[in-house]
Amino acid sequence: MPELPEVETVVKGLRQPVQSKEIVRLVSLRPGTVLDQRARKPSGTKNCHQMQICHSLETCPHESREGNPSITPLTSWQISQNANLATSATDFTNLGTITSLERRGKYIIIQTSQELAIIVHLRMTGKLIIQEGLGHSNDDLYHSCDSHGRSSDGRCHSPDPLCHSHENGNPPCTPATKPNPTFPKHTRAYFEFADNSCLLFIDIRTFGKIQILSQAQLPEYFQKLGPEPFSSDFNPGYFLGKARTRNMPIKSLLLDQSFVAGLGNIYVCEALFRTRINPCLPAKQLTKKQITNLINEIRQILTEAIQANGTSISDYRRVDDKTGEFQNFLRVYQKTSCPCGKPVAKIKQAGRSTYYCPTCQK
Ligand SMILES: [Zn+2]
Repeated sequence: MPELPEVETVVKGLRQPVQSKEIVRLVSLRPGTVLDQRARKPSGTKNCHQMQICHSLETCPHESREGNPSITPLTSWQISQNANLATSATDFTNLGTITSLERRGKYIIIQTSQELAIIVHLRMTGKLIIQEGLGHSNDDLYHSCDSHGRSSDGRCHSPDPLCHSHENGNPPCTPATKPNPTFPKHTRAYFEFADNSCLLFIDIRTFGKIQILSQAQLPEYFQKLGPEPFSSDFNPGYFLGKARTRNMPIKSLLLDQSFVAGLGNIYVCEALFRTRINPCLPAKQLTKKQITNLINEIRQILTEAIQANGTSISDYRRVDDKTGEFQNFLRVYQKTSCPCGKPVAKIKQAGRSTYYCPTCQK
């Protein structure tokens, strides 16, 4: 699952290629992948574990919250990523020109000249890949019909028998001769830009989401998300205050996005190893020195991982479809032996695998 360094790498990789590009349309190829939230009025909050649809999924990203009433409830915004799968629209236009790309936690925020914020959450297996050209097998025929309008299936719907694509000996625009865009397998949505390039959203497991918001909705959307690990808000005083009230292992606390944004299983396991803290230690028992070390080590490991373009263990890829390199520097995550020579233990915590060295992390 992409964590902060992987999402940061994707955002950095996207800036130069797509900044200032005009979005002609955003097309959802799978129901529920693109959600238009502009009309949404969040009301009240619900606990994640009440949402059956969330927990019917094989891997729930919120499972560490289950049975933990002390955890901040999720807003209906975040729940909606799982629950609101009903949407009839598949083709979104008038989205404007991209003015900025930012990361917040594990979210990618694409802001546009139409005062929109398009939020991409890669979740388990999502990736954004730049493709030059739409991949039609007959671009000329396809695009010559644009003036008459067409639907997202790529077919000409012109009632005009003199549609100019029929000229010069081209065959009529019947469905049989109109190619659909050809994209890699598991492409769930794509942005089409005015220069005919596009940005593909490829997602095998289909947990990933693209949400369209107005920029004014952003503060509310992220109001439950914890501070960024690099921000001054994530400091020993904050950490200590939160840890005291949470009756959970330190590993589960670090995975809680309302406590700190962007950390996932890989970097939490590695940061705990580097600070020699046992992942099962109750968060409230950490000393101030351990907390200070942990904050420093989290920042250090994230910095190193960003420099290495992230960790590619399974599906994560950069925007040019290349892998990151930080998997070569992991010390305990998915390892069988620790650098100290002793075996690495693998246990389950809140449904997630934890890797640690019982010798180094007592
Ligand atoms: Zn060890």
